[in-house]
Amino acid sequence: MRAFRYRLYPTKAQETALLDTLHLTRELYNAALQERRDAYRKAGKSVSVYEQMRSLPEVKAVRPEFKRVHAHVLQGVVTQLDRAFQGFFRRVKQGVTAGYPRFKGQDRWNSFAFKQVWDNSRGTWFGPGKVLDTGRIYLPNIGNVRMKMHRPMEGKPKTLTIKKEGNEWYAVYVCDAPTRPLPDTGSAVGLDLGTTHFLITSDGEFVDNPRFLQSTLKKLRVAQRSLSRKKRGSKRRRKARQHVASIHRKVARQRLDFHHKAARTLVNQHDLIAHEDLNVKGMGQGNLARSIHDVGWGQFLNLLSLKAADAGRRVIGVDPRFTSQRCHACGHTEKANRRSQAMFVCVSCGHEANADHNAAKNVLGRAVPSGLNGRGQPHAVV
Ligand SMILES: [Zn+2]
Repeated sequence: MRAFRYRLYPTKAQETALLDTLHLTRELYNAALQERRDAYRKAGKSVSVYEQMRSLPEVKAVRPEFKRVHAHVLQGVVTQLDRAFQGFFRRVKQGVTAGYPRFKGQDRWNSFAFKQVWDNSRGTWFGPGKVLDTGRIYLPNIGNVRMKMHRPMEGKPKTLTIKKEGNEWYAVYVCDAPTRPLPDTGSAVGLDLGTTHFLITSDGEFVDNPRFLQSTLKKLRVAQRSLSRKKRGSKRRRKARQHVASIHRKVARQRLDFHHKAARTLVNQHDLIAHEDLNVKGMGQGNLARSIHDVGWGQFLNLLSLKAADAGRRVIGVDPRFTSQRCHACGHTEKANRRSQAMFVCVSCGHEANADHNAAKNVLGRAVPSGLNGRGQPHAVV
């Protein structure tokens, strides 16, 4: 699966219709969530996704404005809520602190999706999302919206998501594109995801957030401080808030771009990439700084998996516990081995290393327990 993202240029009227769709889908999501909550609180029973799907015609009968939204989009909203619940129940089962699915405020709802855009049996578009030769795409009830297709789509489009980012609109097609395997390199690598560095590889390579991203993050902190000083409800405060939001979007764009590049480099160089499994790592730690970092890493690891699958590479998540305390040279595991944040000195064998580099080697060791590091060299495990 590969995603192709294109900028949309709706007219004023089309933008009104797009916003109307966002508004209605958000209302549906919140109502469907309310129904599930109420059913559980009052009767102790759960409402299934199928029941909610079946009641959609009824919704349209009572509230005709919902007829303005394509049936697939409405169904997608109910499915999205169901996924949120599935995730919640899974986390509860795993014993991880789980947040109950939440109501979506206006600023937390910025997309809607068509779940099926290509008819495989006829080999043609169903209709929604159809790319017209006039440089526009067809969106039911919204119109033929101008789209800049800066690169061709590959494979068969499966789904289409329409997204609002700030004042800009995007169409994201997820396509069933053929994979493009890369030739073997004979190399395997382990990653330690850092807080001071973005990541450190078992080869001893340090990858930092790029300078331009760091400088935007600095600007963001300055803007946030300035916002906090503005008087509530004032015009200046509103201005400052918009400023913060626009820097936020810039950070997100730059970070995404950097994640793409970092993942691409790793996938090009290694047949196997091992990383810490974040689900295990965060467990019961309740460390805010850590979990904020995790959000970014989640995106990075997701891109890494997608690119690896496309290139025929392997990505393995390993249990990260004690990877920072274990000596890579002799296997001795003790807290005292970690002399400081950066310094690792084994109390048993005296092995000295950068602490994160040592951890990255342990991560690789867990993914390749055979003792080979991918280059045919045995691990220095005694
Ligand atoms: Zn040692």
